[in-house]
Amino acid sequence: EDRLISAQFMMEDQAVEFSLRPRYLAEYIGQAQAKENLKIYIEAAKLRKEALDHVLLYGPPGLGKTTLSNIIANELGVNIRTTSGPAIERPGDLAAILTNLQENDVLFIDEIHRLHRTVEEVLYPAMEDYALDIIIGKGPSARSVRLDLPPFTLVGATTRAGLLSAPLRDRFGVVSRLEYYTVDELTFIVSRAADILQVQIVGEAAREIGKRSRGTPRIANRLLKRVRDFAQVRGDGVITLDIARMALKLIQVDELGLDEVDHKMLRAIIGSFQGGPVGLDTIAATIGEESQTIEDVYEPYLLQIGFLQRTPRGRVVTPQAYAHLNIPMPDRS
Ligand code: ADP
Repeated sequence: EDRLISAQFMMEDQAVEFSLRPRYLAEYIGQAQAKENLKIYIEAAKLRKEALDHVLLYGPPGLGKTTLSNIIANELGVNIRTTSGPAIERPGDLAAILTNLQENDVLFIDEIHRLHRTVEEVLYPAMEDYALDIIIGKGPSARSVRLDLPPFTLVGATTRAGLLSAPLRDRFGVVSRLEYYTVDELTFIVSRAADILQVQIVGEAAREIGKRSRGTPRIANRLLKRVRDFAQVRGDGVITLDIARMALKLIQVDELGLDEVDHKMLRAIIGSFQGGPVGLDTIAATIGEESQTIEDVYEPYLLQIGFLQRTPRGRVVTPQAYAHLNIPMPDRS
């Protein structure tokens, strides 16, 4: 899946994301609610010289969960250890990570909803009591030994809080939902990124990119990078509004940030199913995609901007989407 407007991380993002990633709360744009709360909790933990409560961050990909977890560690002045749910294969792997932490360190687990159940069970006493229960021996002579861990902060990130087991979710003291960014915020993020990348951009062009970034900083950064290439090759390096519009047209990202896959899906529902309702699996079969991919990647933004609705009988294309695609609504009377 290599769509330019995908919010999912791609290898090409790596270098740029590293340099553009804000390091401290003050540089982290938007997410006022999450930021305000965290600021207070972090300050309190520092005053008490204790580990910060465990933090769960949830929301769509590309909104800044990884960034925020690094900021939390920076603000606390501690080390961060980064891993992900599926990367921790056995309970022993997690035990090794936990015993290597230093006092008050941050352990960041991305995609925490994908932790194996047996691994998750190691996490419960670790989160609750900073302890590790180890079974020694086998069969009837087996006994459990409790090992103390240094106090630490678990920061978990997930795109789907609903998939977390209740016992795991309950062990997070701080739960923050990240929201899609406003156009103003994205415009600011684009301008800041252009500064860091040392490329000149006019305000209107930054806004144009912001508008087409699907509420997502990762996409804003990626579009900026593409438009910059275009400005360098076709212009004099400055990103003007004209250059931005031309480039975005060329890479097929429309005024609302939709690409050809979004168009294809909406047109398929309109063309083959009179706009719906139609089931997810049927849509998937029609456009040759996996249902899961549609649900996780294609659909969230279309739902967010009100182009698609979920009903008990399936997905429905809304009048706004018809208008955007310039297709007359079918007469349903
Ligand atoms: P997630 O972990 O939610 O998928 P990331 O934390 O990796 O998202 O964010 C993707 C990129 O978007 C980061 O590298 C960073 O450059 C940018 N970014 C995210 N949030 C912000 C923000 N609040 N302000 C500025 N840039 C941001």
